[in-house]
Amino acid sequence: LRTPLDVDYAGAFHAATDADRALAARIRAFVQDEVLPVIDGYWERAEVPYPLIARMGELDFLRDSVDVDGHEKISPLGAGLAAMEMSRGDGSVATICGVQGGLALRSIQMLGSDEQKAQWAEPIAKGEKLAAFGLTEPTHGSDSVSLETRARSVDGGYRITGAKKWIGAGANSDLTVVWARGDDGQVHGFLVPQDSPGYDAKVIEGKVSLRAIHQAHITLTDVFVPEENALPGARSFKDTGRVLAATRLGVAWSAVGHAIACYESAVSYAKTREQFGRKLAQSQMIQERLTSMLSTLTQMQLLAVRMTELDAEGALTGPQASLTKYTCTRGAREIASVARDMLGGNGILLQHRVARHFADIEALHTYEGTESVQALIVGRDITGVSAFV
Ligand code: FAD
Repeated sequence: LRTPLDVDYAGAFHAATDADRALAARIRAFVQDEVLPVIDGYWERAEVPYPLIARMGELDFLRDSVDVDGHEKISPLGAGLAAMEMSRGDGSVATICGVQGGLALRSIQMLGSDEQKAQWAEPIAKGEKLAAFGLTEPTHGSDSVSLETRARSVDGGYRITGAKKWIGAGANSDLTVVWARGDDGQVHGFLVPQDSPGYDAKVIEGKVSLRAIHQAHITLTDVFVPEENALPGARSFKDTGRVLAATRLGVAWSAVGHAIACYESAVSYAKTREQFGRKLAQSQMIQERLTSMLSTLTQMQLLAVRMTELDAEGALTGPQASLTKYTCTRGAREIASVARDMLGGNGILLQHRVARHFADIEALHTYEGTESVQALIVGRDITGVSAFV
């Protein structure tokens, strides 16, 4: 077993503290000992690994480094390395943390009342309650700002009607943070228990990416939500955007993890596979391809670290976060594709690891803002002209 931060050609992680490294090492050990031996089976069966979720709750890996009273405070770089190590193991497991902690718990911690935090933060951090983040709609993905789900004010609370699509953990969990338009025309957030009358969720079948986490298509029909379940800090879509902005670097770090896993598999395969009487690693073409992968990976790592430093200083801008997600998911997609090819036929077998990452990176490329949408955010910053309608 190699040390956690070993693929680091440029010393990108030199500023990681002992605590950051210890966290990354703990996650690496969990991934090696408990995730990798079983995850291919879950992925193939399209089954959610509930025993692993329970273990992540016990090990305090489920809150995606979001601050919760009584839990270890994690530095921004530690959070990045944690996301990287989790994704280096498996994208579904990392996305489960991203939804549970990164999106749902963060919405409550950033925008919730003291009572909501007291009720939900600890059970969500521990995995005693499973939570989802319901923003995307069947007809509003990239333009989720135009979402149509309505929350009508009624006596004692709200009635929510609408539909949500692609909601990780949106079925068979406990709570969904639902984003809906209020009577004032603004987007607000609501804590909706999944057993509420009128909440109907169906798991989306036939997925070829992140098969070990389920996404749901949710229909909300006059779902009653009491006043105390409205997130008081969610006053407009800008507040939704603050939650998403805080998770964007995490997705970039996850992409770094996927890329490392693919690069490592390609290196190890090249060193062992023989064709034409010699190891693949002895071929100049293979060496150049490995160099190209490492070059891209090193640039991704340096960018992720630098942007995380800016984030820690409170100086990270939205376009910078978008550039980071754009660069890292794009780089990981390229690396996964080359690694898959370098393993030949074995590259499409789950047992050789790359195929799972190759398929899973497609979801990262799309969720929390597609590559094109990140490009439009950066493009607007470069030109001063918005290409959004
Ligand atoms: P569309 O917006 O329809 O985009 C289709 C294509 O058009 C893309 O290539 C896009 O880049 C491009 N495009 C769109 N607008 C423009 C434009 N103006 N100019 C140029 N190109 C454009 N959502 C949640 O709320 N909660 C979740 O837990 C969640 N989990 C997800 C998990 C998975 C596996 C996936 C796939 C999605 C998840 N999503 C979730 C939804 C995700 O955020 C959306 O899929 C994403 O925002 C893209 O929306 P869309 O799929 O509707 O694609």
